[in-house]
Amino acid sequence: MSVLDDNIAKLDGYLARFRKTGILNRIAGQDAAGSEGVFQTVSPVDKSVICDVAQGAASDIDAAAQAAYAAFADWRDMPATQRRNILIRIAEGIEARAEEIALCECWDTGQAYKFMSKAALRGAENFRYFADQVVQARDGQHLKSPTLMNITTRVPIGPVGVITPWNTPFMLSTWKIAPALAAGCTVVHKPAEASPLTARLLVEIAEEAGLPPGVLNTVNGFGEAAGKALCEHPKIKAIAFVGESRTGSLITKQGADTLKRNHLELGGKNPVIVFDDADLDRALDAAIFMIYSINGERCTSSSRLLVQDSIRAAFEAKLIERVNSIKVGHPLDPETEVGPLISQEHFDKVTGYFDIAGQDGATVAAGGETVGDEGFFVRPTLFTQASNDMRIAQEEIFGPVLTSIPFSTEDEALRMANDTAYGLTAYVWTNDLTRALRFTDKLEAGMIWVNSENVRHLPTPFGGVKASGIGRDGGDWSFEFYMEQKHIGFATGQHKITRLGAL
Ligand code: NAD
Repeated sequence: MSVLDDNIAKLDGYLARFRKTGILNRIAGQDAAGSEGVFQTVSPVDKSVICDVAQGAASDIDAAAQAAYAAFADWRDMPATQRRNILIRIAEGIEARAEEIALCECWDTGQAYKFMSKAALRGAENFRYFADQVVQARDGQHLKSPTLMNITTRVPIGPVGVITPWNTPFMLSTWKIAPALAAGCTVVHKPAEASPLTARLLVEIAEEAGLPPGVLNTVNGFGEAAGKALCEHPKIKAIAFVGESRTGSLITKQGADTLKRNHLELGGKNPVIVFDDADLDRALDAAIFMIYSINGERCTSSSRLLVQDSIRAAFEAKLIERVNSIKVGHPLDPETEVGPLISQEHFDKVTGYFDIAGQDGATVAAGGETVGDEGFFVRPTLFTQASNDMRIAQEEIFGPVLTSIPFSTEDEALRMANDTAYGLTAYVWTNDLTRALRFTDKLEAGMIWVNSENVRHLPTPFGGVKASGIGRDGGDWSFEFYMEQKHIGFATGQHKITRLGAL
C-alpha cells in the first residue's frame, strides 16, 4: 500500500463520523443544529461533498454569545495556573490528534500534507507558547507619584469573536483562540464556510482537555449572516479577524454601533527584492518557497519578485526550470508540493489572471494552465515581462502565481516595493549591510525578512500596515488586544483636595 493509499484509508476512517452526523455547532458545551438548516462542505480534490454543516445565523450567534458571556466570569477568575494547565492539555490533545487534523485539513482545503502536518503541530505550539504567558499576562506597573501609589493591571476584555479564513484554518484559529483564552477571554469562533472540519476538532479537543462549557463556542455559517451577527452582537467586546481586506472594512463598519475593538489581519501583495550581490541560490529557494508552498494561498506569500536587471535573465531562467518541476498532485501524497485551490470560485479567480496577464502585456513564462478537471488544480505559474502597474502586480491573486518585475536601481526597487495598497511582508536579498539597513528603514511593511524566507518567531509582532491590517499578534501584543489596561491610584497621605462650595 502506498503512503497515499494509506492516508486516504485513514482519512476515510476520520470522516466516517462527519458523514453520519454532519458538523454541528458547539454552544455551551452542547451540540446544536443551525437555525438556517445545513450547507455542504466540498473537497477541492474531487469536488465531492464531504458532509453537511450546521448553518448558523443571528440566533445561533446570540446563543453562543450568551454562553460566552455566562462563562466569562468563572474563566476570568480561575487561578492562572489552572488555566495554564488546561491550555497545555489542549496542546497535548492537538499533538495526539495531529494526523487526524492534518488529513482532514488537506481534504477540506486542498493543502498539501507536506505542509499541513507541520501546521497542525504549529497549532499545538501556539497553545504552549501562550500557556507559558498566562501567569504574567495580568501583571502591571507601579508608577509612584508624590501623592499617590499608582498601579496598573490588565484584565481580559470579555467575550470575543474570532473570524477565520480557509487557508491553513486550524493553525490560524489557534493563533487567535490560544491568546484569547490565555488572557481570560471567552470566545465565539466563526470558521470559514469553505473549511469547517478542523474547527470542530479544535473545540472537541479543548473540551476534552477540561475547558469549561461555553468558554469556546463554534458557530458555522456564512460571513454575511453569522459573521455579521457576531460583529454586531453587544455582548461581544472585540473581533479578531483574519481574511480579505474588503471584509476587514465590513468588519469595522458592522462593529461601529457597538464600538467593537477590531484586530484585522488582511491581504498582501508582498515583494521579494533580489539585488545582484545576493546569495542568488538561497534567494531563489526562498522566493519559490514563499509563493508556491501552501498553494500560494498564503497572506505572507512573496507574490511580486522585484529582480535587478543585471541578473534578471539568469534568475528567471532558473526560476522557470524549478517552477515547471514543482509537483502538483493529490494533497495526501507526501510528495505533493501544490494541491488544488480551495473552491470553484477561487479557481475561477486565479485562472482569470492567466488571461489578464496576457491582456496587460506580460508573458506567461511557466504554468498558466489548469490540471485535469477532477478538482481545482492549476500549474504553478510565473509571469514575466511585467510592470508594477499591471493588475497581476497590484491585486492579491492568492494562488501559486508569481509576477516577476525587473528594476535597475535601489530607488526604483524601493518605489515599486511600496507602490501597492498592501503592506504585510517584504523580503530583501542583498549582502550589502548598509543597503539592507537603509532599504528596510523605508519599506512600508509590517514584517520584513533580510536574506530569509518568513520564519515565524512567536514573541515577535505579526501584522500589516496600509490595507494589510490593523493591530499586531504575537508575544505581548496579543494580550494588548484581548485585555484592557486598568489604572488604580491609592492616596499615600492627606494631599490637598480642592474644596468647591466650602467657606
Ligand atoms: P474572507 O474575508 O472572504 O473570509 C474570512 C472570514 O470572514 C470567513 O470566515 C468569512 O465567512 C467571514 N466573513 C465574510 N464576510 C463577512 C462579514 N461581512 N462579516 C463578518 N465575517 C465575514 O477571506 P478568505 O477568502 O476566507 O481568506 C483569504 C484572505 O485572508 C486573503 O486575502 C488573505 O491574504 C487573508 N489572510 C490574511 C492573513 C494575515 O495574517 N494577514 C492570514 C491568512 C489569510
